[in-house]
Amino acid sequence: MNEQFPSVLLERAVSEFAKLPGIGRKTAMRLVLHLLRQDLGAVEAFAGAVTTLKREAKFCRVCHNISDTETCRICADPRRDASTVCVVENIRDVMAVEATQQYHGLYHVLGGVISPIDGIGPGDLQIESLVQRVKSGGVSEVILALSTTMEGDSTNFYIYRKLAPTGVRLSVIARGIAVGDELEYADEVTLGRSIVNRTPFQGNL
Ligand SMILES: [Zn+2]
Repeated sequence: MNEQFPSVLLERAVSEFAKLPGIGRKTAMRLVLHLLRQDLGAVEAFAGAVTTLKREAKFCRVCHNISDTETCRICADPRRDASTVCVVENIRDVMAVEATQQYHGLYHVLGGVISPIDGIGPGDLQIESLVQRVKSGGVSEVILALSTTMEGDSTNFYIYRKLAPTGVRLSVIARGIAVGDELEYADEVTLGRSIVNRTPFQGNL
């Protein structure tokens, strides 16, 4: 597609939006025209939120969740059970589990799953920091709550092998969630039940 833009400014804005996941050129154009119709203040607030997010958002030094502070709100909450750590892929999974209101422990955000096809190895994920976290004491149970995909399964197994020597209790969320499902798409009741009914991890895949 080779659109003729009457304005380089317009073309540049559309190109930036079209770089976003799931946004095609048509949608990008619609969004840009929408912004152009807004007050300057509203557009500045939009641009400001994006740049401030990038500039100031941190990763929690304990769980690696996205946070406004060095230690995230969940890790800093004294009412949470710090002896239980739920391992998830990303912040969307943290939000999905939080929405169930069935889990009161802490999290460990891996940043994805092991996927050789995508060039993601264990070293690209927060696995070593999980092992260190368990070794430093205070954690009695680690709950694996990764996607029920082949990549999720092999990541579970890798973590199991790394954590087995520590003697920490390792469990996996109940597979009420269908194979291939991602956590963030499970409904809250199902996901909540999967966490409550977690089972000991069987290391013999
Ligand atoms: Zn945290």
